[in-house]
Amino acid sequence: MWRVGTVVALHDETATARTITLEVPDWPGHFAGQHVDVRLTAGDGYFAVRSYSIASAPNSERHVEITVERLPNGEVSPYLTQELAVGDRLELRGPIGGWFVWHTQQTEPIQLIAGGSGIVPLMAMIRSRASTGSAAPFRLLYSVREPGAVFYRDDLQALSDQDHSLGLTYAYTRVAPKDWPRPAGRIDAALIANTTWPSKLVPTCYVCGPTSFVESASRLLTASGNDPEKIRTERFGPTGDRQ
Ligand SMILES: Cc1cc2nc3c(=O)[nH]c(=O)nc-3n(C[C@H](O)[C@H](O)[C@H](O)COP(=O)(O)OP(=O)(O)OC[C@H]3O[C@@H](n4cnc5c(N)ncnc54)[C@H](O)[C@@H]3O)c2cc1C
Repeated sequence: MWRVGTVVALHDETATARTITLEVPDWPGHFAGQHVDVRLTAGDGYFAVRSYSIASAPNSERHVEITVERLPNGEVSPYLTQELAVGDRLELRGPIGGWFVWHTQQTEPIQLIAGGSGIVPLMAMIRSRASTGSAAPFRLLYSVREPGAVFYRDDLQALSDQDHSLGLTYAYTRVAPKDWPRPAGRIDAALIANTTWPSKLVPTCYVCGPTSFVESASRLLTASGNDPEKIRTERFGPTGDRQ
């Protein structure tokens, strides 16, 4: 079933990523980690459909936020990040997905690992945890190209300052801030060992990002002793070079 949402706010997260807030009067509610399909239809009836994770917490009544990273040669993401305006209407279908979700009843340690825009559904989990007062211990390992590519930086910092059981680690793949303790580079076994929950605590792990990022991070988690059945993954796209 396609629903119609009206754009009520736009916010640039980075030079290439924009958060779109939609008001959807008949939104049925969602779980953190789910996504929507967005359909754009041209005047001649041609249409394109793309999936976008929901960034907002489940209790954001009738409001749904998505954050879109612009791909330079993309068909849909340049429109959503550059042309869509407040007041425009957008067709969406969802919420979709039942496996890559975090429920507020979960109390075990949670390990989140994001590559680039893969932070979006994990942010919904972090927001859901904060808004319901859950005490589930969370750790986020967030891999991005460079400091300017971080989404939700202020929100993440504020949430982690308020609640020390939300641990944040940034890993920069191309350019690290001056004096950063680790040189720029991809996530490796040492970083997993030093910053993620020990496998003996049996965390549930959520890994999201470009396909090859997800595969590599999942392999590292398994190699460090995590049960593959406790690793849930969401793949955003074909390439591995964007985080
Ligand atoms: C479940 C799910 C959730 C998603 N959530 C988000 C989200 O929250 N935010 C977000 O920005 N994107 C998300 N995506 C990716 C999104 O659906 C689109 O693939 C993306 O916006 C590109 O669409 P486009 O029309 O601009 O590019 P296209 O015209 O489809 O593709 C242009 C070129 O980029 C390549 N490409 C397509 N998608 C990707 C990708 N993700 N990574 C690298 N290269 C790609 C294509 O192979 C092609 O060469 C999600 C995908 C899935 C499956």
